[in-house]
Amino acid sequence: MASANRLNSPFNYFPPPFMNDLFSSIQGYPEHIVEQVKSLVDSGRFCQWFDKRYSDRHQIKSERALFDYVQKIKNQYMKKSAPLSKAIYDPKIQLINNALGLHTYRSMVHGNKVKSRNEIRIASVFKDAPEALLRMLVVHELAHFKEKEHNKSFYSLCTYMEPDYHQLEFDARLFMIYLTLQEGEK
Ligand SMILES: [Zn+2]
Repeated sequence: MASANRLNSPFNYFPPPFMNDLFSSIQGYPEHIVEQVKSLVDSGRFCQWFDKRYSDRHQIKSERALFDYVQKIKNQYMKKSAPLSKAIYDPKIQLINNALGLHTYRSMVHGNKVKSRNEIRIASVFKDAPEALLRMLVVHELAHFKEKEHNKSFYSLCTYMEPDYHQLEFDARLFMIYLTLQEGEK
């Protein structure tokens, strides 16, 4: 078949399609950090390095389990904020702006009452992820209950819930690279 031949052809000089976007998840981080990641990838040791850093995978697979997990963190740090309506894994998330999670807030008018719904959507690739990285996403989306923008008070809320927040956010982005590389090896 034509496509199979092309793969083995010495004239196949096009990079695999995923390579162009491989580092898009860490766009915006300082150049020297991006370079470090790139050289680790170039050396072929990235996945091995990541596996060593994060060897666990959480067991929060169902939406019920995810809801309980989010609720527990919310009760611990943000008990007084608006209630959580829904928490789901969403396969469409990553396609939107490279986002890893999404918080939606809807106001609905019921008679003379305004009801709000706070929903948390987590990119479904995080169904099979290290627990710390799932927690970071949940913390991020919970912080949006109080603060819609990614501003200073938003991030201080994140680090209040998870002191290692900034490192974990970076690592969650590295996890995107990890998944892309794993996918490329299949
Ligand atoms: Zn956000």
